Amino acid sequence: MGAKIVSLEMPFQKYTGNLFCPACGEVVYDSEGMPGSCGHVLFTYHDDFGFESEEDTLTKTIEEVLEKAKSCDEHPVKLLSEKITSKSALIFEITHGGMACGPVWDTFYVGIDFYPSVKQGE
Ligand SMILES: [Zn+2]
Repeated sequence: MGAKIVSLEMPFQKYTGNLFCPACGEVVYDSEGMPGSCGHVLFTYHDDFGFESEEDTLTKTIEEVLEKAKSCDEHPVKLLSEKITSKSALIFEITHGGMACGPVWDTFYVGIDFYPSVKQGE
């Protein structure tokens, strides 16, 4: 049950910051951390910015997940993944690093549905 989370760690200082949609090739998350809107993106998540989603059907679920995450140790994206019933959906967990004043690592999440026209349920 739920959508699989695929965890990737990019080689240090190699990642350009752009994640492309595996379904259509649009940029779904860019180096500024801005989510794209090609229609396949279910949500994006970053620890600093929280969830962003244009999927109305997920709005309520995301609120519930954030509420639940306060009272347990699970990561909110993990909790949300369990609520996604679409079999054509997956979640990327991308960790990448570069130099600032020292090495800095960052992680973001993008949920993709290859066939978003099939509605999400609970
Ligand atoms: Zn797309």
